[in-house]
Amino acid sequence: MNDILPGDSFAWQHVEGVLRDVVQSYGYSEIRLPLLEKTELFRRSIGAVTDIVEKEMYTFDDRNGDSLTLRPEGTAGCARACMEHGLLHNQVQRLWYSGPMFRHERPQKGRYRQFHQLGVESFGMEGPDIDAEMILMSARIWQRLALKPVSLQLNSLGTPASRAVYREALVDYLRQRIAGLDEDSRRRLDSNPLRILDSKNPEMQALIAAAPVLTDYLDDDSRRHFGELRDRLDAAGIDYVLNPRLVRGLDYYSRTVFEWVTTALGAQGTICAGGRYDGLVEYLGGRAVPAFGFAIGMERLLALLQETGDGLPREYPHVFLVMSGEAARRRGLVFADELRTTVPGLRVQACCDGGSFKSQFRRADRSGARLALVLGEEETAGHNVVVKPLRSHEEQRVMPQTEAATWLLDLLSADGTVN
Ligand code: ATP
Ligand code: MG
Repeated sequence: MNDILPGDSFAWQHVEGVLRDVVQSYGYSEIRLPLLEKTELFRRSIGAVTDIVEKEMYTFDDRNGDSLTLRPEGTAGCARACMEHGLLHNQVQRLWYSGPMFRHERPQKGRYRQFHQLGVESFGMEGPDIDAEMILMSARIWQRLALKPVSLQLNSLGTPASRAVYREALVDYLRQRIAGLDEDSRRRLDSNPLRILDSKNPEMQALIAAAPVLTDYLDDDSRRHFGELRDRLDAAGIDYVLNPRLVRGLDYYSRTVFEWVTTALGAQGTICAGGRYDGLVEYLGGRAVPAFGFAIGMERLLALLQETGDGLPREYPHVFLVMSGEAARRRGLVFADELRTTVPGLRVQACCDGGSFKSQFRRADRSGARLALVLGEEETAGHNVVVKPLRSHEEQRVMPQTEAATWLLDLLSADGTVN
């Protein structure tokens, strides 16, 4: 579980802000959900024989003896909330949420026990239009972040009925090669054989590559749905790779599944995963409601931004206020607030811990600010302020305090620093 330190939190806020802008521009509304849910919710929705429920959940009994679990993902809680509040009755929903998820995994690069997701879910739309919209929306997020090295993998899982036929063919194939299966896969042979295709074990890859292919078993409706989705992606100019081995770790998916993957992060290369889960609401005891969603792994997204392209933005004040003498300090805090009022978004850092001019300028330099504003005894008495550029060799200048705010506004809005 990571602390997100002050040096990094600005980059998080920046990325979160871009994600929020994009999902809102598609008409999605935020839903805020509890971190704790009844354990039963995840057992039913995620399925008892998935990695998550078998070995990754943080589960405990509370004081009433109820079994609760820290959410390992957001979809189940989102569906639960929508059912509980009647949001699925004769209406469609487009929702998003973000926050921490908890899985007791073996920690490694890109895999943490508390990690963060942005999740997007839609209810009540059968697709393929909404499937395409969501994939376009994820593509727009990468575009807005100038994220390049990601590629889209796409598959269709068909319906539960067509999957059952495939499942038999797959189990037949695997049973004939049982000696080549690892322990996990043998266990899954009866309970959840499709998950074997998802195995990360390098020794199993050849066997998996030669297995029967799910897309050969699709029913007619799923085939049509998949074809129409591909048409829409083609029309939007979105490239993708068909990956017939792509299955989801969670049991409630049907038809479309997709992942955005990168090779720039080593083994943990999936930064976004999602698909259609028409079975979930019914599974949870409601009337069948078609649904589609995806989740972005925030840590992996930030790591990828850090390692490629322009890196992540850093936080710094625009202006550092140097104050010397009792009168200047008294005036300074008020002056700084006047600037904040006139220049929306302006970040002013006042030097509140005193010191000589020299040491205050050292701090101004280290703060990353572009300008120092200086209030000494003389300036304060004359209602003036000295403006000293810190990142260029331009001359410093003196101006009346009453003019400083508009001068700053002009300077900083001209290059988009504030708006
Ligand atoms: P994986 O195959 O990597 O274990 P998953 O199928 O368990 O992924 P999902 O449940 O689909 O992952 O979660 C969606 C996204 O959340 C993943 O693609 C990944 O970016 C991120 N994610 C999942 N688990 C973790 C984790 N333990 N630490 C950091 N990010 C994670
Ligand atoms: Mg996992």
